[in-house]
Amino acid sequence: MDKRQFLKGSAALAAMTAVRGGLAQSGSGGPRENWAGTFHYSTDNVLQPASVADVQKAITSVDSVRALGTRHSFNGIADSKVAQISTLGLHDFKLDAAAKTVTVGAGIKYGDLAVQLDKAGFALANMASLPHISVGGSIATGTHGSGLRNGGLATSVSGLEIVAADGTVHTLTRAKDGDAFHGAVVSMGSLGVVTHVTLDVEPSYEMTQIVYQALDFHELEHNFEAIMNTGYSLSLFTNWQHHKAWEVWIKRRVDQGGGAAPPEMFYGATLAKEKLHPVVGQGPEKTTDQLNSVGKWYERLPHFKMEFTPSTGREIQTEYFVPFEHAYEAVLAVESLRDQITPHLFVTELRSIAADDLWMSMAYKRRSLAIHFTWKPEWDAVMKVIPQVEAKLKPFTPRPHWGKVNTLAAPQVRAAYPRADDFTQLLKSYDPKGKFVNEYMRHELLG
Ligand SMILES: Cc1cc2nc3c(=O)[nH]c(=O)nc-3n(C[C@H](O)[C@H](O)[C@H](O)COP(=O)(O)OP(=O)(O)OC[C@H]3O[C@@H](n4cnc5c(N)ncnc54)[C@H](O)[C@@H]3O)c2cc1C
Repeated sequence: MDKRQFLKGSAALAAMTAVRGGLAQSGSGGPRENWAGTFHYSTDNVLQPASVADVQKAITSVDSVRALGTRHSFNGIADSKVAQISTLGLHDFKLDAAAKTVTVGAGIKYGDLAVQLDKAGFALANMASLPHISVGGSIATGTHGSGLRNGGLATSVSGLEIVAADGTVHTLTRAKDGDAFHGAVVSMGSLGVVTHVTLDVEPSYEMTQIVYQALDFHELEHNFEAIMNTGYSLSLFTNWQHHKAWEVWIKRRVDQGGGAAPPEMFYGATLAKEKLHPVVGQGPEKTTDQLNSVGKWYERLPHFKMEFTPSTGREIQTEYFVPFEHAYEAVLAVESLRDQITPHLFVTELRSIAADDLWMSMAYKRRSLAIHFTWKPEWDAVMKVIPQVEAKLKPFTPRPHWGKVNTLAAPQVRAAYPRADDFTQLLKSYDPKGKFVNEYMRHELLG
């Protein structure tokens, strides 16, 4: 994100009240801010296709364009000076029960997909902290949940339909296209507009969720891997003070013993007896059920319920992936900045992600710890802290989340991705004239 984008972000924050009052609706395209109101898009021209043929027409009608999903990214990744193509009209659903796959329109939200899938007796392997995000936008940015044995959401993708810059439709599958497929899934929206995504599914399962309070960071020094491997998915929440995670959220599958009564203590942390929100002081009504009650997979994997605003609403997010073998050192490095971080922070979440083969995934060939920050909407102060966090994490070759705010520039980001040059070549083969290249891509990756 460059200085101009920071300034746009500040202006958007100042205008937030007006935006939430609905004054920022454009004539044809819906809100002109990202979900958090922290980034103002540069165009009012939002094309709204309802079919693949419409997408082809939309792409060939303009010289420069970006796809737009549910607007949950925090930076300029979806921005365009000329036009955006909203994918929200693409939300069809076709299950192949025999092949254990589902093919969906890329604009479908995970929450809507999950309900249809579960009714048919199937489930996804993982979800992010919220169900409100589109499938196409999530896989484009490497969006993830938690679990050292679980890959990010893009690892469930087994097929893609992409409309490229010249309007041609390309179908890629994991089975047929091998390495090129691995290059195309986490694309930052730069190969074209993904119109359909095929996802692996499995039989539906039930889960429970339990929360422990006050886990001392000393426990991480020797037990980090065992802790992160507990249950099916685990998140640690902290504000970096007192050398502690204030909450540990553990999501357990009933078919893996997750219905059993949980122990009272977990590495010195105490089992919570009431429902909690990850941000201290926020009410638990928005969060998925806890206290070991059994529910469907999609009612436990995300932290937040579909029918409520997730997280805090007015916020800035940043996140860095570091190799899991350096997880504890990286936590100590960030913790050394606690007095600069805490005043501007709602919460930090620590999650683990399995290594994968997707060239531009933040977990490419690296089992990872993801260190996430939900910042208060204090733009200027937060922008002073982020470079300090990045300097502390530099020895660990951090990979910033593609959809969140960071101040790293292309050379440092590229250096963290062994297949960055191959990805640039792939991008040029789909988009030789740079129709999908925007300011974010130039700053963040292409240089
Ligand atoms: C409250 C909150 C909680 C979050 N929690 C998590 C979390 O748990 N884990 C995590 O990893 N991230 C998380 N995020 C980040 C979020 O998952 C990503 O920003 C994701 O990209 C959002 O999807 P979207 O549809 O809103 O994408 P958008 O912001 O609309 O677009 C993101 C990028 O995807 C591209 N894109 C969108 N659709 C398509 C398409 N069909 N074809 C091609 N390109 C496309 C756009 O061009 C753009 O480059 C969270 C964000 C918020 C606001």
